[in-house]
Amino acid sequence: MDPVEAYGRVKSSILEHHKWFDSSLPMIASENVTSPAVRKAMTSDFGHRYAEGWVGERVYAGTKYIDEVESIAMELVKRLFNVKFADVRPISGVVANLAVYTAFTNPGDVAMALPITKGGHISMGPLRGSEGQFIGGTAGAVRGLDVKYLAFDDHNMNVDVDKSIKRIEENKPKLVILGGSVILFPHPVKELSDVCKSVGALLHYDAAHVAGLIAGKQFQQPMEEGADVMTMSTHKTFFGPQHGAVITNDEEKFERIKLANFPGLLSNHHLHSVAALALAAAEMLAFGEEYARAVVRNAKALAQALHDEGFSVVAEHLGFTQSHQVLLDVDALGGGHRCEKLLEEANIIVNRNLLPWDIKRGRSFKDPGGLRLGVSELTRLGMGEEEMKEIAKLYRKVLLDREDPKKVAGEVSELRKRFRNVKYAFEEGPAYEY
Ligand SMILES: *Cc1c(COP(=O)(O)O)cnc(C)c1O
Repeated sequence: MDPVEAYGRVKSSILEHHKWFDSSLPMIASENVTSPAVRKAMTSDFGHRYAEGWVGERVYAGTKYIDEVESIAMELVKRLFNVKFADVRPISGVVANLAVYTAFTNPGDVAMALPITKGGHISMGPLRGSEGQFIGGTAGAVRGLDVKYLAFDDHNMNVDVDKSIKRIEENKPKLVILGGSVILFPHPVKELSDVCKSVGALLHYDAAHVAGLIAGKQFQQPMEEGADVMTMSTHKTFFGPQHGAVITNDEEKFERIKLANFPGLLSNHHLHSVAALALAAAEMLAFGEEYARAVVRNAKALAQALHDEGFSVVAEHLGFTQSHQVLLDVDALGGGHRCEKLLEEANIIVNRNLLPWDIKRGRSFKDPGGLRLGVSELTRLGMGEEEMKEIAKLYRKVLLDREDPKKVAGEVSELRKRFRNVKYAFEEGPAYEY
């Protein structure tokens, strides 16, 4: 492709993407939308600079404003999570997890987490599965950890406490990871903290998905319940830029985390993202409780409405969800792949997902039986319970009534016309303007 043509095509694709999302229902549970101020910080000159090292001990000149911003980011993150120490340098949630593995384990050590089929994340995964199949997860493939699995209770969609305690006692891991990519209910941090202490395992809570709900005090508080360290992505329920952070209350542990981040894993730590994170953290302090309350309320309302429309919503007996996520079992509707595609044609953006019982019924990650829906972004656009009911009807039209998705796309676009701005911000403004 001619460079001028390529240049033009990229610019127009970016514009088209913005237009598309401006008339869609973005419901990927790991995504969100930032305020205009946060978006603008991402394009600031901070993104051209280096500031290796710690504030006050930089290896570069020219960082006085960057230092101030990074100090504020750390202060705000500490306040949000009520902890003594925060490192805001990891450039993503995976890098934050890798910092914990680097700081507290050696290659060959045993770590325990949930398998991907039960909500675990690829960054917690082993190099190979129990049958020798390649998995290539960060913990195994990058840090060389021997990853064993915690037990999961499919019916209750949560870690099985009694069986996991037994497995922890048997395997004596160095590291136990809770939290996950599919997380409907609080994980048993308190319940597993004693056994972790008794075998000398570090208890690590991966709050990539739920950091915004924790900051907004509408989900469990892992650091008060006994977690030693917590990692997060800052762009899922936490409505900031794509970035990561690690927090702890233990100074000695924090020193190790700092060293793992720099000089271990990072040179540049994406200063524009740190600036954007500082702004988002300020928004979270001011509006986080109200936002997180609305997110959880909306997730429950969406789950109930989908159930009422005739969908098979996971965990009905437990009230469906206590987080931002709703899980649908669409095995009988042709599977996750088909449903995801149909919804996408209707401008409803969701992702297919493995359900804990999928492998048993012969499904795989390529065409799993579930859809994972998230309501964080819709909530940030100002939608409430009434809209969740409208959205459930749109799902019904596409997936149950088999209406033409293109026609439903028109209704989606009409609905979105009433929700153009980012809320829960000091300066509300257009969500997808570019
Ligand atoms: C998304 C996710 C991550 C990775 O975060 P990135 O910011 O995408 O690197 C880590 N852990 C869990 C549980 C996740 O869901």
